[in-house]
Amino acid sequence: LYNMVEDLKGNIRVYCRIRPLFRAEKKSVIDFIGEDGSLVVVDPLKPQKDGRKIFQFNRVFGPAATQGEVFADTRPLIRSVMDGYNVCIFAYGQTGSGKTHTMSGPSGGTTEELGINYLALNDLFQFIKIRSCLGDNDLALPDASKHHVTSTADVISLMKFGETNRAVGSTAINNRSSRSHSVLTIHVNGEDVSGSRLYSCLHLVDLAGSERVDKSEVTGECLKEAQHINKSLSSLGDVIMALAQKNSHIPYRNSKLTLLLQNALGGHAKTLMFAHVSPEGDSFGETISTLKFAQRVSTV
Ligand code: ADP
Ligand code: MG
Repeated sequence: LYNMVEDLKGNIRVYCRIRPLFRAEKKSVIDFIGEDGSLVVVDPLKPQKDGRKIFQFNRVFGPAATQGEVFADTRPLIRSVMDGYNVCIFAYGQTGSGKTHTMSGPSGGTTEELGINYLALNDLFQFIKIRSCLGDNDLALPDASKHHVTSTADVISLMKFGETNRAVGSTAINNRSSRSHSVLTIHVNGEDVSGSRLYSCLHLVDLAGSERVDKSEVTGECLKEAQHINKSLSSLGDVIMALAQKNSHIPYRNSKLTLLLQNALGGHAKTLMFAHVSPEGDSFGETISTLKFAQRVSTV
């Protein structure tokens, strides 16, 4: 029944999440959040009528939404993984908009603040034996490795290790973690209640920051890296959009990211994208481009 209900809602869903203002005295560009997934944002330079824009998603989580509330709406997808579906959950948005908060939770945070990665694994461990890996060895990813895990605690320490690795480059290349994708792939292997073989996977993806890189400010390796990141994000958008439009050709081969996630994008797979936005006025341009991207993904 779970999956029938889910199927009726479609296989690509988009949730929007707005993080709290860092400084309470500043004004938020978010004007209205509807129970039905609608959202109104206001251009701080044009607060009149023509500066208001309406967006529609499957759900919008406001600044007060807890990790538990966000996970409650994600949980059915984790159930789908246990029913044999491949699932991909993405965090999209500019640097500082809350992607890592949603997926991992704040570093050094409390148990209540743990994000989807942990809560999802916790659910999976309650049901079946799983093994997990960071990345996928079948693809030529130099930094990827597979690890056998038996508990959520194993995975937490593995992910801390992954985070450390991700941060290592930050002295070499400015702000590495915002310029790289973090992919946690969980392969579920077992038997379902009727005794038939179950093989499915869950990709949990904390994407690189989606902000446009100012070409006048970066050069050399950094520029090359930035262009590469932008290309992988736009390839991801192209794939999701081609799927949503039910095109016969899906351009998986245009980036390593989409190749890596291919088995969980399209077909019977289920995709959930969290579009993250910062409510500050000076982020308005990036907020609009994030919302437009997310809107395109959700409505075509
Ligand atoms: P990103 O990964 O998109 O660069 P982060 O997840 O690191 O952004 O979030 C930036 C900062 O905002 C962090 O200090 C984080 O703890 C905080 N933050 C983000 N989202 C929330 C939220 N929903 N509630 C409280 N703090 C948040
Ligand atoms: Mg981050």
